Amino acid sequence: MTNRIITIDGPAGTGKSTVAKEIATRLGFVYLDTGALYRASALKIYSSGVDPEQEKDCVRIVSASNISISEGKTFVDGKDVSEEIRSSHIGELASRIATFPRVREELIKIQRSIALLSSVVAEGRDTGSVVFPDADVKVFLDATETERARRRHTELLAKGYNVDFNEVLADIRRRDSRDKTRDVSPLVVPTGAVVVDTTHLTLEQVVSKLLKVIKMRLTD
Ligand code: C5P
Repeated sequence: MTNRIITIDGPAGTGKSTVAKEIATRLGFVYLDTGALYRASALKIYSSGVDPEQEKDCVRIVSASNISISEGKTFVDGKDVSEEIRSSHIGELASRIATFPRVREELIKIQRSIALLSSVVAEGRDTGSVVFPDADVKVFLDATETERARRRHTELLAKGYNVDFNEVLADIRRRDSRDKTRDVSPLVVPTGAVVVDTTHLTLEQVVSKLLKVIKMRLTD
């Protein structure tokens, strides 16, 4: 049987990760968290001490590293960095290095190689538009800026990061603007995507709505 590809894109704080994880579990597909690859690269660049503004140095570090995802965990050179990559600082750095075309090329290779091995639910910013333009089903999740900041704030507090709501909102605005305006693979609604505004929906409502669409399209 050929492998299937479902893509879920959208800005930060739309619930993409939770939704993608849940859908992957219910369908028995691999959950491909592409943001984790950008975050892992950012962490490696940060700990290497190179200037994150220099594309050449960033690409050198990323291509010489072994960045991988397995069973929901993210590894850099064999070390589990799943928790470390979740800080706001690394998220911010990830969005800066994600503007470099050659860094993106390196990480896209990893994403496509994972999808060759299994059916995936890929989640990110460009998975339906650039990485997997021929995906079986494409989804774009959105929500208002305030709601997205509220969710991200609650999530960070629950993880023990004592951050201010306004800081989270400013962080979301900065990242959105960079992700939407960059020259390479900007965040866009992919052609043919099902767009869902999650502002007033619960996780379960989003998941069941999407599962209906996905099952219909996969059996077409
Ligand atoms: O989704 P997450 O917040 O973990 O992603 C971190 C950053 O990585 C995003 O703000 C974005 O700049 C970048 N990214 C990207 N393309 C993807 C996934 C993430 O540019 N497919």
